Amino acid sequence: MRSLWDDSEAKARGKDALSLRVYTSRLIGREPSLVLQGGGNTSVKTRGADLFGETTDLLYVKGSGWDLAGIEPAGFAPLRLEAVRRMAELPSVTDSRMVAMLKSLSIDPDAPAPSVEAILHAVIPSAFVDHTHADAVVTITNTPDGMHRIGEIYGDRIFIVPYVMPGFELAREVYEMTRDVDWAELEGIILMNHGVFTFGDDARSSYERMIQIVSEAEDYLDTHAPLETSSIDAEEARAADVLRLARARRAVSLAAGGTVFARFDPTASSFASRPDAPELVSRGPLTPDHVIRTKRVAWVMDDDVEESVGRFTAAYREYFERNTDGALTCLDPAPRWALWPGRGVVVFGRSQGELNAVNDIVAHTLPAIERAEQLGGWQALPEDAIFDVEYWELEQAKLSRAPRAAELAGRVALVTGAASGIGHACVEAFLARGASVVALDRNDAVTSMFDEARVAAFACDVTDATAVEFAIESAIRRYGGLDAVVSNAGVFTESARIAEISGEVWRKSMSVNLDAHRIVLQKTIPFLESGIDPAVVMVGSKNVPAPGKGAAAYSVAKAGLTQLARVAALELAASGIRVNVLHPNDVFDTAIWTPEVLAARAKEYGMDVESYRRRNLLRVEVTSADVAALAVALTGRLFAKTTGAQIPVDGGNDRVV
Ligand code: ZN
Repeated sequence: MRSLWDDSEAKARGKDALSLRVYTSRLIGREPSLVLQGGGNTSVKTRGADLFGETTDLLYVKGSGWDLAGIEPAGFAPLRLEAVRRMAELPSVTDSRMVAMLKSLSIDPDAPAPSVEAILHAVIPSAFVDHTHADAVVTITNTPDGMHRIGEIYGDRIFIVPYVMPGFELAREVYEMTRDVDWAELEGIILMNHGVFTFGDDARSSYERMIQIVSEAEDYLDTHAPLETSSIDAEEARAADVLRLARARRAVSLAAGGTVFARFDPTASSFASRPDAPELVSRGPLTPDHVIRTKRVAWVMDDDVEESVGRFTAAYREYFERNTDGALTCLDPAPRWALWPGRGVVVFGRSQGELNAVNDIVAHTLPAIERAEQLGGWQALPEDAIFDVEYWELEQAKLSRAPRAAELAGRVALVTGAASGIGHACVEAFLARGASVVALDRNDAVTSMFDEARVAAFACDVTDATAVEFAIESAIRRYGGLDAVVSNAGVFTESARIAEISGEVWRKSMSVNLDAHRIVLQKTIPFLESGIDPAVVMVGSKNVPAPGKGAAAYSVAKAGLTQLARVAALELAASGIRVNVLHPNDVFDTAIWTPEVLAARAKEYGMDVESYRRRNLLRVEVTSADVAALAVALTGRLFAKTTGAQIPVDGGNDRVV
């Protein structure tokens, strides 16, 4: 690992201690093998003015909830140093009490809550203190003679602390153990199964000691436990069975009591092909603070997905019962990641952010396991130590503060014709309610018009079955499943009397307005069967119940589409899939209705444009957003008991009612 220190970058931040503290904290945050997902913390001791302008010794320590990679001065809590240091002498304090006490020592009422490791930072006398959960160091400590190996690598430069749960206990333990040490002789502290502390008189020396210590651990691993490169064909692993993935997502969603996403990661295929992989992923996490994200062990997925997730949740409940003191509430027992033997890993999460977090942690854990195996065996902490962190009062409090999930959070909806008009409005409506979307459109602008984090967009002609299949399978690999389909893509074909209609116009309407819906339905049914409360909405037309002259090609195709939906409702009811049809009319805020076209049509009817827009019983204008709101509602709970229905959204039409 190389030092990222750059004189001119450092200077640009500022010369004062806090600015430099921000600078090297960010350098640490940039390196995922030092800190992952908000892990690690840093501090600086300096003098500053309190509320009354009196100068006092302060400890600026990272606030909880801040990520080192993007930290700002405001991300540090300024605490009265001497008082924080004295807290280490208190006989016993619960961690939630400790957090409240630390907060009361802040001189800035607007500062964030200080890190739970604040007292430990105060105990170390140096001005700058850096703390990480470096992969390489933690890997070595997770082996049978890890402590011996750490001693062998670092000698007397490092003070070793056996595992103690983070929080007040750990701070107190380090305080007691280091009462008589000569800090000037030390470069750092290694906490077994947890991480590293380094310190120094200036920002650079503390940071570079971290890099030095971690580099030595990396070199040790490269010599004693080199990582073998994968010989597995990643292409083969990538072609993993997407239907199995969808079934796994459904099983985990049911176990979690809410819809989750699932993402297949083929980069773990070589690890997943080890015969001992199922046993290795059942030993425990890399560091205990990962347990909140990953749970203690992985689910080992086998052919019978439903049955094997049932075994996982039963084992989780037994683990809870074995370790609870009786006053705790069991968390949802669903797995957060799975080993898919021979294929790779699958991660689960309620948001893309959660998926990324779990994926990141797993990607760092698997190489650590493989290397520790070469050092005599991967050895995680015993389950009661992991349990204590998983059910730590501070973590439980965090969970109860979690914001309520949006109405459709975790649901995945596919929308065709997504680049404009009703389809575009449907994408927006799904996003506004928290769903993730698979957006298909023939127009390749679709790939750049939505937030990539929540929309998988594909330029795809829905009349091309192969293209539709490719898009759907790609989306399943990303989200893990599909719960709703709005089959919307359509074309207005040119107006012509039956006597004059061309074969070309007729076939085009049939192809886009009818055949394509059959293709989308056929390709999505297998995934909807493994969806959560699955539903299909077909976008029909007022022309179905009330056809107009000159629109045979359009009306016949839309009538066929309606009949397709009715038969689908009959066939798919047994799988719990609902199929309903919307019949919109006169939706003018779409690309086809330019002001010129609108003016011409209004004139034809002898009306002004405004009256023409509202030529329905209610005299209201029907917008794409109105149609989208109804389409989204049809896929949701409100219509949970409705299938085979045709619902007009037209302001009332006297030929329909
Ligand atoms: Zn830590």
